[in-house]
Amino acid sequence: MKIHEYQAKEILQKYGVVTPKGIACFSVDDAVSAAQQLGGGVWVVKAQIHAGGRGKGGGVKVAKSLEEVRQRASEILNMHLVTHQTGPEGQVVHRLFIEQGVHIEKEFYVGMVVDRRQQRVCLMASSEGGMEIEKVAAETPEKIHKVFIDPVAGLREQEARDIAMKIGIPAQSLPQATLLLQGLYQAFDESDASLLEINPLALTAEKQVIALDAKMNFDDSALFRHPEIIALRDLDEEDPIEIEASEHELSYIPLDGNIGCLVNGAGLAMATMDIIKLYGGNPANFLDVGGGANAEKVTEAFKLMLRNTKLQAILVNIFGGIMKCDVIAQGVVAAARDVRLAVPLVVRLEGTNVDLGKKILADSGLTITSADNMADAAQKAVNAAKV
Ligand code: ADP
Ligand code: MG
Repeated sequence: MKIHEYQAKEILQKYGVVTPKGIACFSVDDAVSAAQQLGGGVWVVKAQIHAGGRGKGGGVKVAKSLEEVRQRASEILNMHLVTHQTGPEGQVVHRLFIEQGVHIEKEFYVGMVVDRRQQRVCLMASSEGGMEIEKVAAETPEKIHKVFIDPVAGLREQEARDIAMKIGIPAQSLPQATLLLQGLYQAFDESDASLLEINPLALTAEKQVIALDAKMNFDDSALFRHPEIIALRDLDEEDPIEIEASEHELSYIPLDGNIGCLVNGAGLAMATMDIIKLYGGNPANFLDVGGGANAEKVTEAFKLMLRNTKLQAILVNIFGGIMKCDVIAQGVVAAARDVRLAVPLVVRLEGTNVDLGKKILADSGLTITSADNMADAAQKAVNAAKV
């Protein structure tokens, strides 16, 4: 799960991480009163969307008077902000963050991710702040310093200090930078984050180390123990079809092709999309109905796929392990009737009670093309979509 910059900053402040003073708002008038309340003579108006690269896309602007705050806020609010992370359609800006402007002397990069190979949280830091870290990693990897954090000891003072020194934090700011890095790790660890990024971490003219941007993603599997983080979810930032799918406990991701896929298990769903591609077709979606799918769930899955006007065929690929093939076949038949299915349907069943399942499909009176294996199913679906 993702959250907004201002929400991440609120979490980080609890761990002693210094950030500029700021106020989140939903309207231009609120933006102006927020600036008034914050005081000072320079503000930064920042679009709040779940994507990075906002500055380059015109979603982060400096304002030097309240009138300018009003002007910038009205430009940014409701704009379709296009960044390298949003795709060409962009993301509509519904929230703003008004922050005090900071006098930046130098920008650094700090990030944390879970490193699966090392089975530890990896702290990465670089002197090259403010730019895309992917570019730094590709062009000057020696400028990225790493620490793999011991989960028992946490981020040790010495480790934090060393990495801060390596990226060029001046001596007088090292104690503060050390505490900030330790605070970041504690926040990451206690909130079950999967990613944390401060880009840029700034050194101010007063030699203070301060987080100017903050991005946090959380491990969905751990959200059950963080109601306070679930409360930060912003549905405006999520695809409405994916939200609806998650309400039915379906993992659904729309894609560009025309062959709908209904599969149980994420691995089989990926393999199904691969084999459709192999035979020259294009999947219209990823859809994993999970292990315990029943007729209602399959019906909802059909309804989601059928929203796609480009859909030309559906391929159902089910391995009946825990779930029996006859139960799935009943579900498919009921769903096809319920939605009055008009696009060609290819079904490949394998596993427990497969013969009974196939018989249910054959006896249904519906035009369902049965397939014997994945290759056969993919070819039949690709051909059906061509007609
Ligand atoms: P994004 O990474 O999405 O472009 P950032 O929050 O990093 O958004 O903002 C872009 C740039 O704007 C930063 O690299 C920094 O130079 C500047 N900036 C952001 N917030 C402030 C602030 N409060 N004061 C001064 N400059 C800021
Ligand atoms: Mg940034």
